Amino acid sequence: MPITANNPNRQTWIATSSKTDFPIQNIPFGVFLTRDDIITIGTRIGDTAIDLGALHQLGYFEGIPLTDDIFLQDSLNDFISDGKKTWRLVRNRIAEIFDKENKALQNNEEHKKIVLFKLEEIEMQLPVTVGDYTDFYSSKEHATNVGTMFRDPDNALLPNWLHMPVGYHGRSSSIIPSGIPVHRPQGQKIIDGADSPIFGPSRLVDFELEMAFITTDANPLGEPIPVDEAEDYIFGLVLFNDWSARDIQKWEYVPLGPFLGKSFASSISPWIITLDALEPFRVAGPKPEKEQLPYLQTEGERSFDIHLEVAIQPEKGKPVKVCKSNFKYMYWNMSQQLAHHTINGCPVNSGDMMGSGTISGPTPDSYGSMLELSWKGKNPVQLSDGENRKFIEDNDTVIMTGYCKNKDVRIGFGEVSTKLLPVFKK
Ligand code: CA
Repeated sequence: MPITANNPNRQTWIATSSKTDFPIQNIPFGVFLTRDDIITIGTRIGDTAIDLGALHQLGYFEGIPLTDDIFLQDSLNDFISDGKKTWRLVRNRIAEIFDKENKALQNNEEHKKIVLFKLEEIEMQLPVTVGDYTDFYSSKEHATNVGTMFRDPDNALLPNWLHMPVGYHGRSSSIIPSGIPVHRPQGQKIIDGADSPIFGPSRLVDFELEMAFITTDANPLGEPIPVDEAEDYIFGLVLFNDWSARDIQKWEYVPLGPFLGKSFASSISPWIITLDALEPFRVAGPKPEKEQLPYLQTEGERSFDIHLEVAIQPEKGKPVKVCKSNFKYMYWNMSQQLAHHTINGCPVNSGDMMGSGTISGPTPDSYGSMLELSWKGKNPVQLSDGENRKFIEDNDTVIMTGYCKNKDVRIGFGEVSTKLLPVFKK
């Protein structure tokens, strides 16, 4: 089925700026509280939020097989379960409803009052109920930098790294939408050279610049997802800040991997940008450096050209850009991650979230964490005259943004913005 929603020539009757992340070609999905305190599934064009629950009740999705309450829910999980064909039909229909040439809703003042909201009238929620969250480690530059710093520059990558998308199972309970602040975590840490640990606030709180993809119900127990079908089961992507406490992580991670140094919070941007909307921005990923096992081999353009940026805003001051990276740097693509995840027969469900791992690029200004940007604190990152950062300080806000752009259209992700509060005190 064609993705007519992506037509770059389509214009909308909703007022939009040419710089918006959300032109009519985007049509993301999210969940919000309306001005009347009702929770609904919605989309967004420019700075106008659109209540899909109300649109459906008013009959605008006639002819598409949807249950009556599909958008009157507090998560997208059921809609995502409906599958790619339905996502596509709904996005195509939304594009038609808001097309400049279509007068049906455009000229119906009563319906517009019910369906349209200003952004300041709504409050974004988590878009999905995340059952399971997995985090990969798929940027070769990031894995190399971390291996160089903590182990051995000559053998920075561990022997498995070029053969599989390494990952671990994280906690979904601490995934939060943009705007919710996070407390500095406390935990066990060890001072270099000491025999036993101390307890206290993490001194090395860090961000990780990642993206996450969200899956639909894909496979019954025991059935792997073939790598060339994996994209059929990916609904869309969000920006993902995988907060990390490096001192806690360093002491706890052997031998079973990340735990409390990671599970205190991961923040996401609230609008899910569909894989369909990203279609014009496909690119080839890095060439494999070692032959991959057949179940991981992909052909064609399986990566996406998504510009990513991180800024730090101190309590008093403006945001300062500290990193510029790109999703296309990922060595392992999403199809490979999903094929690997399910090769043992482990099922994935609707609303599961798969983090990419920190997305570092080839140059020092493209490193996706403070650990790398400041090289373990050796080279503080300058924010302004007299202010620099080795890691994130109390009351700093970390802001991640992302967008794709070609000559026709800009498809953006908005932002994930999170303030780090001091340690929690009762
Ligand atoms: Ca991570």
